[in-house]
Amino acid sequence: MPLKNGKRMSIKDKEFLHNIFRKEIKDRKIPLSLGKTCPVKCTFCYEMDHSYRDTFDTPLTTQEHWDFIFNEIKSLPTRESESWVLGGNEYMEWTDLALHPKAMDWIEQFLDQTDKGITVFSVGYFDPLRINRLADKYPGRINFELSVISLSSYRQQLMPKGPSVDQVLEILDGPAVTSANFYSLGPDSMSNDAKRISKINEKCLLWMGCLTPLKYIDGNTTKLMRQGKRFLPDEARKIYDMDLPNVQMIHTESDITAFLNRNKIIKTFDACELEKKDWIVMAGNVHRVLTLFRSGRARFMYVPNDTLGGDSDCTTLLTFDDIAKRITNQKVIHLPRVIMEKSSNDERDISGRSFDEFKNQFPNVRFKVLHKINSDLSNKKLYEKGYLKNYVEGYLNNPLSKKYENVAYPN
Ligand code: SF4
Repeated sequence: MPLKNGKRMSIKDKEFLHNIFRKEIKDRKIPLSLGKTCPVKCTFCYEMDHSYRDTFDTPLTTQEHWDFIFNEIKSLPTRESESWVLGGNEYMEWTDLALHPKAMDWIEQFLDQTDKGITVFSVGYFDPLRINRLADKYPGRINFELSVISLSSYRQQLMPKGPSVDQVLEILDGPAVTSANFYSLGPDSMSNDAKRISKINEKCLLWMGCLTPLKYIDGNTTKLMRQGKRFLPDEARKIYDMDLPNVQMIHTESDITAFLNRNKIIKTFDACELEKKDWIVMAGNVHRVLTLFRSGRARFMYVPNDTLGGDSDCTTLLTFDDIAKRITNQKVIHLPRVIMEKSSNDERDISGRSFDEFKNQFPNVRFKVLHKINSDLSNKKLYEKGYLKNYVEGYLNNPLSKKYENVAYPN
């Protein structure tokens, strides 16, 4: 029986399953399933708790399912710049789909019989020779984001069932991998990995940063993640000094991103033309920027990322439940649009809760949406400064960043 939000749901018939496939396909996902939770069991896995969204416990994808999925996808027109995602389903639990015994065959069929691109997320269970051969045969069609995580001794702690370091290095040795993500976990972790990966593959993008502990991550993993954050400046400087040929990005730290984009945040805030008495919702990262540069220009309603918990600190990831906990006697509250852009069809937060439902909970409060603060802005503009170079030159070397780090959050 499939599970939905922890409750048993019955997949009544084939049509029900096909409808789940159709929903994923609409979002440009290739809905393969392992028919079980992810066997890799990484201790940092953010899918460990996915109770915030509805998922269906789908069976192992059969040839018959695949024929249906493939025909549906094939019937859709190809749009330039569109890439079909393997390994990030919305209505099914995330697993490493490279572990599906037919994954490689189906990827090959997809590349052979369509003109569409594919984005693959995996910790690296593909046959290295075959995936690199496919990338050679279909240049520019595979966007392979390899989750290296760490090649250091910390790897054993974080992913005891993950692929071996040798397997990961073999995959990297070829044209398949477009980006490799790995993290600071302590001294000589991220910097050693950057050097090692770049030596094998100087074309893939190096995507670095820290892993953020969320509330359901175990104590030891949380400790390791926080240690990584403490060593991030040292590790980043070492990589900066190596002058590697790869494109190098640090994208995972919302506080750094907010600081580097402070001018854009301030400009957008000014453009909203709020009055001093207006309440505006924001998470800690933006709160610190506006406290430093726009103090007293509006009433900043600091909302912690309670749903995700841990050290998460990002306005984009706030939920309506988080906001609800902070409402006291406000009459009018301004909400950034970015909070309710989970789906393109209606206004929902990352947990899937709708804006209408939230408004009904507070009949005496008027909510005004700040349309200028949207995901288009956060995805495109704020990411522009996500290079390691920006972090070292514009953040670490900027004395203002120390002041920013010392801005305390309100209670
Ligand atoms: S391989 Fe991916 S989905 Fe599986 S446990 Fe690890 S992080 Fe989670």
